[in-house]
Amino acid sequence: MIRTHHYIGGSQVQGRSHRAGPLYDPATGERTGEVDFASAADVDAAVASASAAFGQWREVTLSRRSEILFAMRDLVRDHTRQLAGIITAENGKVLSDAEGEVLRGLENLEFACGIPSHLKGERSEKVSHGIDVESARYPLGVVAGITPFNFPVMVPLWMCANAIACGNCFVLKPSEKTPSASMLLAELWQRAGLPDGAFNVIHGDREAVDCLLAHPQVTAVSFVGSTPVARYVYATAAGHGKRVQALGGAKNHMVVLPDADLDMAADAAVSAGYGSSGERCMAVSVVVAVGDVADRLVDAIAARIGKVKVGAGTEPDAEMGPLVTREHRDRVAAYLDAAAADGAVVVADGRDLVRPDGGFFLGPCLVDHVRTGMTIYTDEVFGPVLCVLRVADYDEAVRLVNENRYGNGVAIFTRDGGAARRFQDQVDVGMVGINVPIPVPVAFYSFGGWKDSLFGDLNMYGPDGVRFYTRGKVVTIRWPDPSTSAVDLGFPRTR
Ligand code: NAD
Repeated sequence: MIRTHHYIGGSQVQGRSHRAGPLYDPATGERTGEVDFASAADVDAAVASASAAFGQWREVTLSRRSEILFAMRDLVRDHTRQLAGIITAENGKVLSDAEGEVLRGLENLEFACGIPSHLKGERSEKVSHGIDVESARYPLGVVAGITPFNFPVMVPLWMCANAIACGNCFVLKPSEKTPSASMLLAELWQRAGLPDGAFNVIHGDREAVDCLLAHPQVTAVSFVGSTPVARYVYATAAGHGKRVQALGGAKNHMVVLPDADLDMAADAAVSAGYGSSGERCMAVSVVVAVGDVADRLVDAIAARIGKVKVGAGTEPDAEMGPLVTREHRDRVAAYLDAAAADGAVVVADGRDLVRPDGGFFLGPCLVDHVRTGMTIYTDEVFGPVLCVLRVADYDEAVRLVNENRYGNGVAIFTRDGGAARRFQDQVDVGMVGINVPIPVPVAFYSFGGWKDSLFGDLNMYGPDGVRFYTRGKVVTIRWPDPSTSAVDLGFPRTR
Protein backbone atom coordinates (compact mmCIF):
# COMPACT_ATOMS: atom_id res chain seq x y z
CA MET A 1 0.00 0.00 0.00
CA ILE A 2 1.37 3.42 -0.94
CA ARG A 3 0.67 6.55 1.06
CA THR A 4 0.89 9.80 -0.85
CA HIS A 5 1.78 12.85 1.25
CA HIS A 6 1.94 16.55 0.48
CA TYR A 7 5.00 18.24 -1.02
CA ILE A 8 5.79 21.50 0.74
CA GLY A 9 8.95 23.58 0.76
CA GLY A 10 10.99 21.06 -1.23
CA SER A 11 10.15 17.84 0.62
CA GLN A 12 7.39 15.35 1.28
CA VAL A 13 5.34 16.32 4.30
CA GLN A 14 2.85 14.17 6.16
CA GLY A 15 -0.59 15.78 6.50
CA ARG A 16 -1.43 17.35 9.85
CA SER A 17 -5.00 16.10 9.71
CA HIS A 18 -5.67 12.38 9.88
CA ARG A 19 -8.09 12.53 6.97
CA ALA A 20 -7.16 10.48 3.91
CA GLY A 21 -8.72 9.13 0.73
CA PRO A 22 -8.42 5.69 -0.89
CA LEU A 23 -6.44 4.94 -4.05
CA TYR A 24 -7.44 2.11 -6.40
CA ASP A 25 -6.03 0.23 -9.34
CA PRO A 26 -8.92 0.68 -11.81
CA ALA A 27 -7.80 -2.41 -13.76
CA THR A 28 -8.30 -4.77 -10.80
CA GLY A 29 -10.55 -2.80 -8.49
CA GLU A 30 -8.05 -3.38 -5.67
CA ARG A 31 -7.23 -0.75 -3.13
CA THR A 32 -3.59 0.19 -3.58
CA GLY A 33 -3.01 2.99 -1.12
CA GLU A 34 -4.12 6.21 0.48
CA VAL A 35 -3.59 9.90 -0.03
CA ASP A 36 -3.43 12.53 2.70
CA PHE A 37 -6.31 15.01 2.74
CA ALA A 38 -5.14 18.50 3.66
CA SER A 39 -6.57 20.52 6.50
CA ALA A 40 -6.49 24.33 6.65
CA ALA A 41 -3.16 24.08 8.48
CA ASP A 42 -1.64 22.06 5.61
CA VAL A 43 -2.89 24.56 3.05
CA ASP A 44 -1.52 27.42 5.14
CA ALA A 45 1.87 25.71 5.29
CA ALA A 46 1.96 25.25 1.49
CA VAL A 47 0.91 28.83 0.79
CA ALA A 48 3.39 30.17 3.36
CA SER A 49 6.17 28.16 1.73
CA ALA A 50 5.22 29.49 -1.72
CA SER A 51 4.96 33.01 -0.38
CA ALA A 52 8.40 32.79 1.22
CA ALA A 53 9.92 31.49 -2.02
CA PHE A 54 8.29 34.20 -4.15
CA GLY A 55 10.69 36.95 -3.04
CA GLN A 56 13.64 34.89 -4.28
CA TRP A 57 12.07 33.37 -7.39
CA ARG A 58 10.76 36.61 -8.87
CA GLU A 59 14.31 38.02 -8.77
CA VAL A 60 15.78 35.14 -10.79
CA THR A 61 16.83 36.37 -14.23
CA LEU A 62 14.85 35.39 -17.29
CA SER A 63 17.80 33.53 -18.75
CA ARG A 64 18.21 31.46 -15.58
CA ARG A 65 14.46 30.77 -15.45
CA SER A 66 14.64 29.63 -19.04
CA GLU A 67 17.57 27.35 -18.18
CA ILE A 68 15.55 25.73 -15.37
CA LEU A 69 12.60 25.25 -17.73
CA PHE A 70 14.85 23.60 -20.31
CA ALA A 71 16.16 21.29 -17.55
CA MET A 72 12.60 20.47 -16.44
CA ARG A 73 11.66 19.79 -20.03
CA ASP A 74 14.49 17.27 -20.34
CA LEU A 75 13.69 15.65 -16.99
CA VAL A 76 10.02 15.20 -17.82
CA ARG A 77 10.91 13.75 -21.23
CA ASP A 78 13.41 11.37 -19.59
CA HIS A 79 10.76 10.29 -17.05
CA THR A 80 7.97 9.84 -19.58
CA ARG A 81 7.64 6.12 -18.89
CA GLN A 82 7.73 6.53 -15.15
CA LEU A 83 5.12 9.29 -15.22
CA ALA A 84 2.98 7.25 -17.61
CA GLY A 85 3.22 4.24 -15.29
CA ILE A 86 1.92 6.28 -12.36
CA ILE A 87 -0.91 7.70 -14.49
CA THR A 88 -1.96 4.22 -15.63
CA ALA A 89 -1.80 2.81 -12.11
CA GLU A 90 -4.25 5.39 -10.73
CA ASN A 91 -6.30 6.55 -13.72
CA GLY A 92 -6.48 3.30 -15.68
CA LYS A 93 -5.76 4.70 -19.17
CA VAL A 94 -3.49 2.56 -21.32
CA LEU A 95 0.26 3.21 -21.16
CA SER A 96 0.56 4.46 -24.74
CA ASP A 97 -2.17 7.01 -24.05
CA ALA A 98 -0.53 8.02 -20.77
CA GLU A 99 2.76 8.57 -22.61
CA GLY A 100 0.90 10.72 -25.14
CA GLU A 101 -0.46 12.76 -22.25
CA VAL A 102 3.06 13.39 -20.93
CA LEU A 103 4.21 14.46 -24.39
CA ARG A 104 1.35 16.95 -24.74
CA GLY A 105 2.26 18.27 -21.28
CA LEU A 106 5.87 18.61 -22.38
CA GLU A 107 4.78 21.06 -25.09
CA ASN A 108 3.81 23.50 -22.35
CA LEU A 109 7.28 23.37 -20.83
CA GLU A 110 8.74 23.92 -24.29
CA PHE A 111 6.56 26.99 -24.77
CA ALA A 112 7.59 28.30 -21.34
CA CYS A 113 11.29 27.86 -22.20
CA GLY A 114 10.77 30.90 -24.43
CA ILE A 115 9.70 33.06 -21.49
CA PRO A 116 12.26 35.81 -22.22
CA SER A 117 10.41 36.42 -25.51
CA HIS A 118 6.91 35.98 -24.07
CA LEU A 119 7.52 38.59 -21.36
CA LYS A 120 8.87 41.26 -23.72
CA GLY A 121 7.20 44.57 -22.96
CA GLU A 122 6.34 47.53 -25.19
CA ARG A 123 7.84 50.98 -25.46
CA SER A 124 6.65 54.14 -27.17
CA GLU A 125 9.00 57.06 -27.55
CA LYS A 126 7.93 60.72 -27.64
CA VAL A 127 4.28 60.21 -26.68
CA SER A 128 4.57 63.85 -25.69
CA HIS A 129 7.41 66.37 -25.46
CA GLY A 130 10.31 64.55 -23.80
CA ILE A 131 8.03 61.77 -22.57
CA ASP A 132 8.30 58.04 -23.27
CA VAL A 133 6.02 55.20 -22.11
CA GLU A 134 6.86 51.58 -21.51
CA SER A 135 4.96 48.57 -20.26
CA ALA A 136 6.07 45.37 -18.58
CA ARG A 137 4.39 42.35 -17.06
CA TYR A 138 4.93 41.30 -13.46
CA PRO A 139 4.20 38.04 -11.63
CA LEU A 140 1.18 37.81 -9.35
CA GLY A 141 2.70 36.01 -6.35
CA VAL A 142 1.29 32.73 -5.07
CA VAL A 143 -1.03 31.10 -7.58
CA ALA A 144 -3.04 27.90 -7.15
CA GLY A 145 -3.99 25.14 -9.58
CA ILE A 146 -6.81 22.65 -8.99
CA THR A 147 -6.85 19.78 -11.45
CA PRO A 148 -9.05 16.81 -12.52
CA PHE A 149 -8.44 13.08 -12.44
CA ASN A 150 -8.25 12.54 -16.18
CA PHE A 151 -4.93 14.27 -16.98
CA PRO A 152 -2.73 13.99 -13.88
CA VAL A 153 0.39 15.29 -15.68
CA MET A 154 -0.76 17.32 -18.68
CA VAL A 155 -3.25 19.62 -16.95
CA PRO A 156 -0.89 20.56 -14.07
CA LEU A 157 1.72 21.35 -16.76
CA TRP A 158 -0.84 23.48 -18.66
CA MET A 159 -0.79 25.67 -15.58
CA CYS A 160 2.49 25.48 -13.72
CA ALA A 161 4.89 25.76 -16.69
CA ASN A 162 3.78 29.30 -17.51
CA ALA A 163 2.96 30.29 -13.94
CA ILE A 164 6.47 29.47 -12.76
CA ALA A 165 8.17 30.84 -15.87
CA CYS A 166 6.40 34.16 -15.26
CA GLY A 167 7.96 34.35 -11.78
CA ASN A 168 5.08 33.06 -9.62
CA CYS A 169 5.16 30.34 -6.98
CA PHE A 170 2.67 27.54 -7.38
CA VAL A 171 0.44 25.44 -5.12
CA LEU A 172 -1.10 22.46 -6.91
CA LYS A 173 -4.16 20.60 -5.60
CA PRO A 174 -4.45 17.59 -7.92
CA SER A 175 -7.38 15.20 -8.06
CA GLU A 176 -7.54 12.98 -5.01
CA LYS A 177 -8.19 10.05 -7.38
CA THR A 178 -4.89 10.46 -9.26
CA PRO A 179 -2.54 12.34 -6.91
CA SER A 180 0.82 10.61 -7.20
CA ALA A 181 2.17 11.86 -10.55
CA SER A 182 2.27 15.39 -9.17
CA MET A 183 4.72 14.22 -6.49
CA LEU A 184 7.16 13.13 -9.19
CA LEU A 185 6.63 16.43 -11.00
CA ALA A 186 7.54 18.23 -7.75
CA GLU A 187 10.75 16.23 -7.42
CA LEU A 188 11.65 16.95 -11.04
CA TRP A 189 11.10 20.70 -10.56
CA GLN A 190 13.51 20.55 -7.65
CA ARG A 191 16.09 18.62 -9.64
CA ALA A 192 15.71 21.12 -12.49
CA GLY A 193 16.89 23.86 -10.11
CA LEU A 194 13.66 25.49 -8.95
CA PRO A 195 14.07 26.90 -5.42
CA ASP A 196 12.32 25.00 -2.63
CA GLY A 197 8.82 26.31 -2.06
CA ALA A 198 8.29 27.56 -5.60
CA PHE A 199 6.24 24.43 -6.44
CA ASN A 200 4.13 22.76 -3.75
CA VAL A 201 1.52 20.02 -3.84
CA ILE A 202 -1.31 19.58 -1.39
CA HIS A 203 -3.80 16.78 -1.68
CA GLY A 204 -7.38 16.61 -0.63
CA ASP A 205 -11.00 17.30 -1.32
CA ARG A 206 -13.33 20.26 -1.04
CA GLU A 207 -11.86 21.30 2.33
CA ALA A 208 -8.45 21.95 0.75
CA VAL A 209 -10.01 23.66 -2.28
CA ASP A 210 -12.12 25.96 -0.12
CA CYS A 211 -9.05 27.00 1.89
CA LEU A 212 -7.20 27.91 -1.32
CA LEU A 213 -10.16 29.85 -2.75
CA ALA A 214 -10.38 32.03 0.36
CA HIS A 215 -6.69 32.25 1.26
CA PRO A 216 -5.59 35.90 1.41
CA GLN A 217 -2.14 35.15 0.00
CA VAL A 218 -3.40 33.25 -3.05
CA THR A 219 -3.68 35.78 -5.86
CA ALA A 220 -5.02 33.65 -8.71
CA VAL A 221 -6.73 30.30 -9.21
CA SER A 222 -6.64 28.07 -12.27
CA PHE A 223 -9.18 25.27 -12.25
CA VAL A 224 -9.97 22.39 -14.60
CA GLY A 225 -12.80 19.98 -13.80
CA SER A 226 -16.55 19.52 -14.08
CA THR A 227 -18.89 22.43 -14.78
CA PRO A 228 -20.70 22.59 -11.41
CA VAL A 229 -17.37 22.76 -9.56
CA ALA A 230 -15.88 25.17 -12.12
CA ARG A 231 -18.83 27.52 -11.63
CA TYR A 232 -18.43 27.28 -7.84
CA VAL A 233 -14.66 27.84 -7.96
CA TYR A 234 -15.08 30.83 -10.26
CA ALA A 235 -17.72 32.52 -8.09
CA THR A 236 -15.99 31.77 -4.79
CA ALA A 237 -12.47 32.74 -5.77
CA ALA A 238 -13.67 35.85 -7.61
CA GLY A 239 -15.72 36.72 -4.52
CA HIS A 240 -12.44 36.71 -2.61
CA GLY A 241 -10.94 39.11 -5.13
CA LYS A 242 -8.83 36.60 -7.01
CA ARG A 243 -8.15 36.29 -10.70
CA VAL A 244 -9.79 33.04 -11.89
CA GLN A 245 -9.88 30.83 -14.96
CA ALA A 246 -12.17 27.83 -14.43
CA LEU A 247 -12.51 25.29 -17.23
CA GLY A 248 -15.52 23.00 -17.01
CA GLY A 249 -17.10 20.01 -18.69
CA ALA A 250 -18.04 19.33 -22.27
CA LYS A 251 -20.34 17.65 -24.75
CA ASN A 252 -18.32 17.55 -27.94
CA HIS A 253 -20.19 17.03 -31.20
CA MET A 254 -18.79 15.60 -34.39
CA VAL A 255 -20.88 16.67 -37.35
CA VAL A 256 -20.66 14.35 -40.34
CA LEU A 257 -21.94 15.76 -43.65
CA PRO A 258 -23.14 13.37 -46.37
CA ASP A 259 -20.08 14.08 -48.53
CA ALA A 260 -17.57 13.15 -45.80
CA ASP A 261 -15.04 10.38 -46.29
CA LEU A 262 -17.01 7.74 -44.38
CA ASP A 263 -14.07 5.56 -43.36
CA MET A 264 -12.14 8.56 -42.12
CA ALA A 265 -15.17 9.78 -40.15
CA ALA A 266 -15.84 6.36 -38.60
CA ASP A 267 -12.16 5.91 -37.65
CA ALA A 268 -12.19 9.36 -36.07
CA ALA A 269 -15.42 8.78 -34.14
CA VAL A 270 -14.13 5.52 -32.68
CA SER A 271 -10.70 6.98 -31.80
CA ALA A 272 -12.07 10.17 -30.30
CA GLY A 273 -15.06 8.56 -28.60
CA TYR A 274 -13.38 5.61 -26.93
CA GLY A 275 -9.77 6.76 -26.50
CA SER A 276 -9.02 7.08 -22.78
CA SER A 277 -12.43 5.39 -22.26
CA GLY A 278 -14.11 8.65 -23.20
CA GLU A 279 -12.65 10.31 -20.10
CA ARG A 280 -11.23 13.27 -22.02
CA CYS A 281 -12.75 16.73 -21.92
CA MET A 282 -12.27 16.84 -25.70
CA ALA A 283 -13.61 13.31 -26.35
CA VAL A 284 -16.29 13.14 -29.00
CA SER A 285 -19.51 12.08 -27.27
CA VAL A 286 -22.11 13.01 -29.90
CA VAL A 287 -22.03 12.09 -33.57
CA VAL A 288 -24.38 14.29 -35.58
CA ALA A 289 -25.27 12.38 -38.72
CA VAL A 290 -26.52 14.72 -41.43
CA GLY A 291 -28.94 13.61 -44.15
CA ASP A 292 -28.59 10.10 -45.49
CA VAL A 293 -25.17 9.39 -43.95
CA ALA A 294 -26.59 7.99 -40.67
CA ASP A 295 -27.16 4.30 -41.46
CA ARG A 296 -23.85 3.90 -43.26
CA LEU A 297 -21.99 5.74 -40.49
CA VAL A 298 -23.56 3.77 -37.64
CA ASP A 299 -22.71 0.51 -39.43
CA ALA A 300 -19.12 1.64 -39.98
CA ILE A 301 -18.68 2.64 -36.32
CA ALA A 302 -20.28 -0.57 -35.07
CA ALA A 303 -17.98 -2.65 -37.29
CA ARG A 304 -14.93 -0.98 -35.72
CA ILE A 305 -16.13 -1.32 -32.12
CA GLY A 306 -15.73 -5.11 -32.17
CA LYS A 307 -12.03 -4.67 -32.89
CA VAL A 308 -11.23 -2.28 -30.01
CA LYS A 309 -9.02 -4.12 -27.54
CA VAL A 310 -10.15 -3.41 -23.99
CA GLY A 311 -7.77 -4.39 -21.21
CA ALA A 312 -5.63 -3.31 -18.30
CA GLY A 313 -3.56 -0.26 -19.17
CA THR A 314 -0.36 -2.25 -18.73
CA GLU A 315 -1.35 -4.94 -21.29
CA PRO A 316 0.81 -4.26 -24.35
CA ASP A 317 -1.98 -4.52 -26.93
CA ALA A 318 -4.74 -2.82 -24.91
CA GLU A 319 -6.25 0.23 -26.63
CA MET A 320 -8.83 1.15 -24.01
CA GLY A 321 -8.58 0.72 -20.25
CA PRO A 322 -11.06 0.76 -17.39
CA LEU A 323 -12.86 3.80 -16.00
CA VAL A 324 -11.44 5.60 -13.00
CA THR A 325 -13.72 4.33 -10.22
CA ARG A 326 -16.47 1.79 -9.73
CA GLU A 327 -19.01 4.55 -8.98
CA HIS A 328 -18.15 6.37 -12.19
CA ARG A 329 -18.31 3.17 -14.25
CA ASP A 330 -21.76 2.35 -12.82
CA ARG A 331 -22.99 5.91 -13.35
CA VAL A 332 -21.94 5.79 -17.02
CA ALA A 333 -23.55 2.37 -17.51
CA ALA A 334 -26.84 3.60 -16.04
CA TYR A 335 -27.23 6.10 -18.89
CA LEU A 336 -27.68 3.18 -21.31
CA ASP A 337 -30.82 1.95 -19.53
CA ALA A 338 -32.22 5.46 -19.31
CA ALA A 339 -31.61 6.04 -23.02
CA ALA A 340 -33.21 2.73 -24.01
CA ALA A 341 -36.23 3.47 -21.82
CA ASP A 342 -36.56 6.82 -23.61
CA GLY A 343 -36.61 5.15 -27.03
CA ALA A 344 -32.96 5.25 -28.14
CA VAL A 345 -31.41 2.15 -29.71
CA VAL A 346 -28.39 0.65 -27.94
CA VAL A 347 -26.36 -0.68 -30.88
CA ALA A 348 -23.33 -1.70 -28.79
CA ASP A 349 -23.66 -2.31 -25.05
CA GLY A 350 -20.30 -2.14 -23.28
CA ARG A 351 -21.73 -3.98 -20.30
CA ASP A 352 -21.52 -7.16 -22.37
CA LEU A 353 -17.75 -7.06 -21.99
CA VAL A 354 -16.53 -9.88 -19.79
CA ARG A 355 -13.37 -9.23 -17.79
CA PRO A 356 -12.32 -11.81 -15.22
CA ASP A 357 -10.32 -9.54 -12.94
CA GLY A 358 -12.97 -7.26 -11.48
CA GLY A 359 -11.72 -3.85 -12.64
CA PHE A 360 -13.91 -0.88 -13.48
CA PHE A 361 -14.36 -1.88 -17.12
CA LEU A 362 -17.05 -0.85 -19.55
CA GLY A 363 -16.69 -1.69 -23.23
CA PRO A 364 -17.40 0.80 -26.03
CA CYS A 365 -21.08 1.77 -26.22
CA LEU A 366 -22.95 3.09 -29.25
CA VAL A 367 -26.44 4.53 -28.88
CA ASP A 368 -28.42 5.50 -31.98
CA HIS A 369 -31.60 7.57 -32.40
CA VAL A 370 -30.74 9.74 -29.39
CA ARG A 371 -32.83 12.89 -28.99
CA THR A 372 -31.94 16.15 -27.29
CA GLY A 373 -34.22 15.67 -24.26
CA MET A 374 -32.58 12.41 -23.16
CA THR A 375 -30.19 12.51 -20.17
CA ILE A 376 -27.56 10.66 -22.20
CA TYR A 377 -27.49 13.82 -24.37
CA THR A 378 -28.08 16.57 -21.81
CA ASP A 379 -25.51 15.30 -19.28
CA GLU A 380 -21.78 14.99 -19.63
CA VAL A 381 -21.46 11.19 -19.49
CA PHE A 382 -17.64 11.09 -19.51
CA GLY A 383 -17.33 7.45 -20.50
CA PRO A 384 -16.93 5.26 -23.60
CA VAL A 385 -20.34 6.17 -24.99
CA LEU A 386 -21.03 7.57 -28.45
CA CYS A 387 -24.52 8.94 -29.06
CA VAL A 388 -25.80 9.35 -32.60
CA LEU A 389 -28.28 12.13 -33.35
CA ARG A 390 -29.81 12.18 -36.82
CA VAL A 391 -30.55 15.57 -38.40
CA ALA A 392 -31.93 16.54 -41.78
CA ASP A 393 -29.40 19.12 -42.93
CA TYR A 394 -26.41 21.34 -42.14
CA ASP A 395 -28.53 24.12 -40.59
CA GLU A 396 -30.16 21.72 -38.14
CA ALA A 397 -26.72 20.37 -37.19
CA VAL A 398 -25.34 23.83 -36.41
CA ARG A 399 -28.47 24.75 -34.46
CA LEU A 400 -28.13 21.58 -32.39
CA VAL A 401 -24.50 22.30 -31.50
CA ASN A 402 -25.20 25.94 -30.71
CA GLU A 403 -28.17 25.15 -28.47
CA ASN A 404 -26.05 22.83 -26.32
CA ARG A 405 -24.96 24.44 -23.06
CA TYR A 406 -21.37 23.31 -23.48
CA GLY A 407 -18.96 24.75 -26.03
CA ASN A 408 -15.60 23.08 -25.51
CA GLY A 409 -14.74 21.27 -28.76
CA VAL A 410 -16.53 20.43 -32.00
CA ALA A 411 -15.57 18.80 -35.27
CA ILE A 412 -16.98 18.73 -38.77
CA PHE A 413 -16.22 16.01 -41.30
CA THR A 414 -16.72 17.01 -44.91
CA ARG A 415 -14.93 17.39 -48.24
CA ASP A 416 -16.71 20.69 -48.86
CA GLY A 417 -14.37 23.57 -48.02
CA GLY A 418 -17.19 26.11 -48.23
CA ALA A 419 -19.32 24.23 -45.72
CA ALA A 420 -16.34 23.82 -43.38
CA ARG A 421 -15.53 27.52 -43.59
CA ARG A 422 -19.14 28.46 -42.84
CA PHE A 423 -19.16 26.03 -39.91
CA GLN A 424 -16.03 27.44 -38.29
CA ASP A 425 -17.59 30.89 -38.45
CA GLN A 426 -21.10 29.98 -37.30
CA VAL A 427 -20.47 27.47 -34.53
CA ASP A 428 -20.52 28.74 -30.91
CA VAL A 429 -17.67 26.59 -29.64
CA GLY A 430 -14.15 27.55 -28.55
CA MET A 431 -12.12 24.84 -30.32
CA VAL A 432 -13.09 23.63 -33.79
CA GLY A 433 -11.69 20.74 -35.83
CA ILE A 434 -12.07 20.48 -39.59
CA ASN A 435 -11.74 16.75 -40.24
CA VAL A 436 -9.84 16.69 -36.92
CA PRO A 437 -11.88 15.03 -34.17
CA ILE A 438 -10.00 16.28 -31.09
CA PRO A 439 -8.84 19.83 -31.88
CA VAL A 440 -6.74 20.47 -28.77
CA PRO A 441 -4.63 23.52 -29.64
CA VAL A 442 -0.86 23.17 -29.66
CA ALA A 443 0.89 24.88 -26.75
CA PHE A 444 1.66 28.09 -28.64
CA TYR A 445 -2.07 28.76 -28.97
CA SER A 446 -4.39 28.72 -25.93
CA PHE A 447 -7.04 26.22 -24.83
CA GLY A 448 -10.55 27.15 -23.84
CA GLY A 449 -14.18 26.46 -24.51
CA TRP A 450 -17.21 28.74 -24.65
CA LYS A 451 -20.47 28.80 -22.67
CA ASP A 452 -20.56 26.42 -19.66
CA SER A 453 -17.14 25.00 -20.58
CA LEU A 454 -15.17 28.00 -19.27
CA PHE A 455 -15.70 30.65 -16.62
CA GLY A 456 -13.27 33.54 -16.85
CA ASP A 457 -11.79 35.79 -19.50
CA LEU A 458 -8.53 34.12 -20.39
CA ASN A 459 -7.97 30.67 -21.81
CA MET A 460 -5.40 28.26 -20.49
CA TYR A 461 -1.73 27.91 -21.49
CA GLY A 462 0.06 29.54 -24.45
CA PRO A 463 -0.14 33.34 -24.79
CA ASP A 464 -3.29 33.58 -22.64
CA GLY A 465 -1.48 31.65 -19.89
CA VAL A 466 1.28 34.26 -19.82
CA ARG A 467 -1.33 37.03 -19.61
CA PHE A 468 -3.23 35.21 -16.87
CA TYR A 469 -0.17 34.73 -14.67
CA THR A 470 1.10 38.31 -14.99
CA ARG A 471 -0.23 41.79 -14.46
CA GLY A 472 0.72 44.78 -16.52
CA LYS A 473 2.49 47.91 -15.41
CA VAL A 474 2.79 51.00 -17.57
CA VAL A 475 5.51 53.54 -16.79
CA THR A 476 5.44 57.11 -18.12
CA ILE A 477 8.95 58.58 -18.13
CA ARG A 478 10.37 62.07 -18.35
CA TRP A 479 13.97 62.94 -17.59
CA PRO A 480 14.80 66.36 -16.10
CA ASP A 481 14.89 69.10 -18.74
CA PRO A 482 14.64 72.61 -17.33
CA SER A 483 13.22 73.97 -20.58
CA THR A 484 10.05 71.86 -20.18
CA SER A 485 9.48 72.42 -16.46
CA ALA A 486 6.71 74.79 -15.39
CA VAL A 487 3.82 74.87 -12.92
CA ASP A 488 0.64 73.87 -14.76
CA LEU A 489 -2.49 72.85 -12.82
CA GLY A 490 -4.51 71.81 -15.87
CA PHE A 491 -4.58 68.76 -18.08
CA PRO A 492 -1.89 68.85 -20.80
CA ARG A 493 -3.27 70.82 -23.78
CA THR A 494 -0.38 70.65 -26.21
CA ARG A 495 0.23 67.56 -28.32
P1 NAD B 1 -14.22 17.35 -10.61
O1 NAD B 1 -14.89 18.64 -10.89
O2 NAD B 1 -14.96 16.34 -9.82
O3 NAD B 1 -12.86 17.61 -9.78
C1 NAD B 1 -11.90 18.53 -10.23
C2 NAD B 1 -11.13 19.05 -9.02
O4 NAD B 1 -12.03 19.73 -8.14
C3 NAD B 1 -10.48 17.96 -8.18
O5 NAD B 1 -9.21 18.41 -7.76
C4 NAD B 1 -11.43 17.78 -7.02
O6 NAD B 1 -10.78 17.38 -5.83
C5 NAD B 1 -12.03 19.16 -6.85
N1 NAD B 1 -13.42 19.12 -6.39
C6 NAD B 1 -14.35 18.16 -6.64
N2 NAD B 1 -15.53 18.49 -6.09
C7 NAD B 1 -15.34 19.67 -5.48
C8 NAD B 1 -16.20 20.54 -4.73
N3 NAD B 1 -17.48 20.25 -4.51
N4 NAD B 1 -15.69 21.69 -4.23
C9 NAD B 1 -14.40 22.02 -4.46
N5 NAD B 1 -13.54 21.22 -5.16
C10 NAD B 1 -14.01 20.08 -5.67
O7 NAD B 1 -13.72 16.76 -12.00
P2 NAD B 1 -13.08 15.33 -12.27
O8 NAD B 1 -14.14 14.30 -12.13
O9 NAD B 1 -11.81 15.16 -11.52
O10 NAD B 1 -12.67 15.48 -13.81
C11 NAD B 1 -13.56 15.28 -14.87
C12 NAD B 1 -14.21 16.56 -15.30
O11 NAD B 1 -13.21 17.50 -15.69
C13 NAD B 1 -15.08 16.41 -16.53
O12 NAD B 1 -16.23 17.19 -16.35
C14 NAD B 1 -14.23 16.95 -17.67
O13 NAD B 1 -14.94 17.45 -18.77
C15 NAD B 1 -13.53 18.05 -16.96
N6 NAD B 1 -12.30 18.42 -17.66
C16 NAD B 1 -12.32 19.59 -18.37
C17 NAD B 1 -11.21 19.96 -19.07
C18 NAD B 1 -11.21 21.23 -19.85
O14 NAD B 1 -10.15 21.61 -20.32
N7 NAD B 1 -12.31 21.92 -20.02
C19 NAD B 1 -10.05 19.16 -19.07
C20 NAD B 1 -10.07 17.98 -18.33
C21 NAD B 1 -11.21 17.63 -17.62
